Amino acid sequence: MIKYEKEIGDKMSLIQEMELYAKEHNVPIMQKDGVHFLCDFINEHKCTRILEIGSAIGYSAICMAMLANNLHITTIERDKVRYQKAVEYVNKSGLSSQIHIIHGDALDMDIDGMFDLLFIDAAKAQYIKFFEKYEKNVKKNGYIITDNLSFHGFVENKDLVKSKNLRQLVGKIQRFIDYLQNRADYDTIFLEKGDGIGISRKK
Ligand code: SAH
Ligand code: MG
Repeated sequence: MIKYEKEIGDKMSLIQEMELYAKEHNVPIMQKDGVHFLCDFINEHKCTRILEIGSAIGYSAICMAMLANNLHITTIERDKVRYQKAVEYVNKSGLSSQIHIIHGDALDMDIDGMFDLLFIDAAKAQYIKFFEKYEKNVKKNGYIITDNLSFHGFVENKDLVKSKNLRQLVGKIQRFIDYLQNRADYDTIFLEKGDGIGISRKK
């Protein structure tokens, strides 16, 4: 019991250390209420096999893996420094048997196997590409969750966006939202959790 409590305590301080690292190095990890929502969702829907696009430093992967020891996550990160940091944190967390981190561009590789949940949290301009490349890895009645669909509120308030680059990106996110709504083979809902989350269930 005491050992167990110490293990939980160690994991919580690791989470805090990662939050601090992310803040200091401008790594866009999930917001707290977003990650809570994701974890509740995984528990509620009993997802055990998860594919994540965009590991960053492994924060969301570690939060998910902490939920249960029968939960397995494959996660892809293209940035070398973040990938290395993710490997370091995952090793520290003691969850390396549950988390498989792959270094590379998710659009340039193929992943085998079927998953209960595909979590897309990478380059926002490419969301349709990620969706179309990896939907084949999602089981029937499985889910695809996408983060940052609100993008700091800019998607709902396009008038606030002044720069051209940002306007293009916001336009791409809006096109992805429209795309999800038009995919009749999925049921999609949008939630104002964290930075805006889309949940699509494969029919
Ligand atoms: N899920 C993480 C945060 C991810 S931030 C968490 O909440 O802890 C988004 C990450 O996606 C960045 O680190 C970025 O390098 C990565 N990324 C963007 N495009 C990618 C691609 N095509 N393939 C793999 N990783 C990508
Ligand atoms: Mg995100």
